[in-house]
Amino acid sequence: MKKKTKNIDLRYAKSRDFTQKDFMYLFNCPKCGFHAKAIAKIWVKGFEDEYIIQTQTIHPEKEKIVKNISDNKLSNDGEIIEELICGKCSGPGGLSPVPYEILELYGYDVKKTIPKKPKTSKLEIIKKFITKK
Ligand SMILES: [Zn+2]
Repeated sequence: MKKKTKNIDLRYAKSRDFTQKDFMYLFNCPKCGFHAKAIAKIWVKGFEDEYIIQTQTIHPEKEKIVKNISDNKLSNDGEIIEELICGKCSGPGGLSPVPYEILELYGYDVKKTIPKKPKTSKLEIIKKFITKK
């Protein structure tokens, strides 16, 4: 049986300032709430006809899993635009900061996911999918 993903509805003050080590970014859909399944459409600004599609699994207890599901390559250089779409309802979504203390309240064991050293930057990951002309 497939494990059901937790769909948590988090409500916390948006005005509060968090320091980098106090929170993590999770996918948030205005319709479905917070969940792990996101789809990313990535293109180079000005060349929207050429894009790659990735599935992104963003779970508070696991490493972010990124899978390229399109064979496309970005052949132009420039500003990378990433648009996140909900993996459940296909509506537009985005990343929202969620404090670790809130995740702990929801029963997530976040101790093991708190980054100890800086990870590969998003741009470096995306660059792997870019081929120059
Ligand atoms: Zn949704």
